[in-house]
Amino acid sequence: MKIKFILPALEEAKSPYWRPIKYSLFPPLGLATLASYCDPGDEPEIVDEHVEELEIGDSPDLVVIQVYITNAYRAYEIADQYRSRGVFVAMGGLHVTAIPEEAKQHADVVFLGPGEECFARFLCEFKNKSHTNVYQSNDRSLVNGLWPRRDLFRRERYLVPNSLVISRGCVNRCDFCYSNSFYRDGRHFYTYRLDHILQEIESLPGRHLYFLDDHLFADRPLVRELFRQMRGMKRLFQGAVTVDSILRDDLIELAYQAGFRSAFIGFESLEKNNLTQVGKTSNLGRSYRDVIKRLDSLGIMINGSFIFGMDHDTKDVFRDVTYWALDHGIATATFHIMTPYPDTSLWKTLESEGRIICRDWKKYDTRHSVFRHPVMSCGEIEEGYHWAYREFYKWCNIRSGSRHHETMRMRWKHLIYAGCWKKFEPVWNFIIKNRMLCHARKILERTLQ
Ligand code: SF4
Repeated sequence: MKIKFILPALEEAKSPYWRPIKYSLFPPLGLATLASYCDPGDEPEIVDEHVEELEIGDSPDLVVIQVYITNAYRAYEIADQYRSRGVFVAMGGLHVTAIPEEAKQHADVVFLGPGEECFARFLCEFKNKSHTNVYQSNDRSLVNGLWPRRDLFRRERYLVPNSLVISRGCVNRCDFCYSNSFYRDGRHFYTYRLDHILQEIESLPGRHLYFLDDHLFADRPLVRELFRQMRGMKRLFQGAVTVDSILRDDLIELAYQAGFRSAFIGFESLEKNNLTQVGKTSNLGRSYRDVIKRLDSLGIMINGSFIFGMDHDTKDVFRDVTYWALDHGIATATFHIMTPYPDTSLWKTLESEGRIICRDWKKYDTRHSVFRHPVMSCGEIEEGYHWAYREFYKWCNIRSGSRHHETMRMRWKHLIYAGCWKKFEPVWNFIIKNRMLCHARKILERTLQ
């Protein structure tokens, strides 16, 4: 059976903010994992529209589409075209789980929640012609979970083909996060077995790895043992961790010894009332300064994530956050405008207060303000957001930010990492066009070393 897995391009692909490198980072691991549940006689194919052309004149036996909020309209367009020719279309992903009624208008079957188990169940029933049209994920476990079919994506088209996810979900419950609603009906955090994780890591070529888990340190005993066993493997890796997980014990030192060199951290806000309001308990009562000092002294770079437009923000938030991040030597910053994704707690609160003013999913890209703020207009928030990005990534500020590290080595790493990431767009475009991302990966490895 021919099965075509499609990751439609985000709407952003047509906007002036489109950065090809941003969408040439990671292969579509979710779809590649579903593909591993196909039978040996099946012919699965994966098309990632961010890095390749999608041909929709074909007639596979089954099309499986992954839907995020910002690719939803494109996903529906692709699905409608296939269905108009009688091709069977299945859809799943965050947006489908959040608003299944919308997705059902464009699909023959929808998957709700994480896909592995329900996709396997559906596939079996589809082949027996006994399938239904909604599959809810019931049995959530990765104890015998399969790894992505890495042979099905084009490794050379991604800067970080060695990305992997060793868990699903998160142990925290932030109001604005998709994680809570996506994993709602069942277990909301579970992991692969340690021996499976080590086998997967050993199978990956090169040195660099990127753990795409929502929170890499969520299962501390597991990752403690993982890092112990990774010592001596000469890997270099990046991943997302929470503020509290860095300060708790010596796990971060073990991570460094295993090769951890760059941490994505959701600082979100400098204002305690905001953190309390959105339930970001992992940040409350913790010293951001201590987190930064500890990582800096080890030699781990920080990608800090910040949200603008929380209820306790004022017009000062853009300057305050930007200069705070620069003054604390944050190497790269990711700014977002607070966005209430459908079906999250934040969405429900704002909806009940009648504050959601835009339901155009294209605008739910964290660059637009889609709900009424107590003191700022949408225009002010969007303007402040763009100003923060421009200011943070000015060469003079990258230079001044880099001087806040203790060692010359970290200063150089900061300069090279931030500069390369944001200041050489035409070079990235050239690299992507000429299929030279493997060379760029070598530079990334050397910078992280
Ligand atoms: S810690 Fe991160 S992944 Fe976990 S619920 Fe909060 S925002 Fe989501």
